[in-house]
Amino acid sequence: MTTYDQDNIFAKILRGESPCIQLFEDEETLSFMDIMPRATGHCLIIPKTPCRNLFDATTEQLQAVIQTVQRISQATRVAFNADGVTVQQFNEAAGGQEVFHLHFHVMPRHEGVALGPPGVMADMSLLETQAEKIRAHLP
Ligand code: AMP
Repeated sequence: MTTYDQDNIFAKILRGESPCIQLFEDEETLSFMDIMPRATGHCLIIPKTPCRNLFDATTEQLQAVIQTVQRISQATRVAFNADGVTVQQFNEAAGGQEVFHLHFHVMPRHEGVALGPPGVMADMSLLETQAEKIRAHLP
């Protein structure tokens, strides 16, 4: 069993030690823009409490996170007039996970538009503009 790394980047964001372009927070979850987006409006949803991924998450963490995933999916769909939304979630390195704090990707999609490549850093002012659009459709 692999343990939770308190120094992963999302733990640092949660402690306020690293910046993020925040979209939404409630008692249990936080959502912010992915800095290497694979689609316009690509964002992430995480629990505020520590867990690596699906293997150690509690029912309470999963319930809270999936509710925020739904809320953010609905907001991004409207914000970008999307035809659909892709939700992705990776578990452990072999499953494609790179940051070891549970997170769900939400990516608005348009007919005929493929996802972009991973690992390409976004322009932060563009991300901020996109975040404004999403926030406008959140309660
Ligand atoms: P994965 O663990 O494979 O789901 O990938 C982690 C995701 O987190 C990637 O899409 C990265 O672009 C994203 N990411 C990494 N660092 C940050 C950060 N500081 N702020 C926002 N997103 C990040």
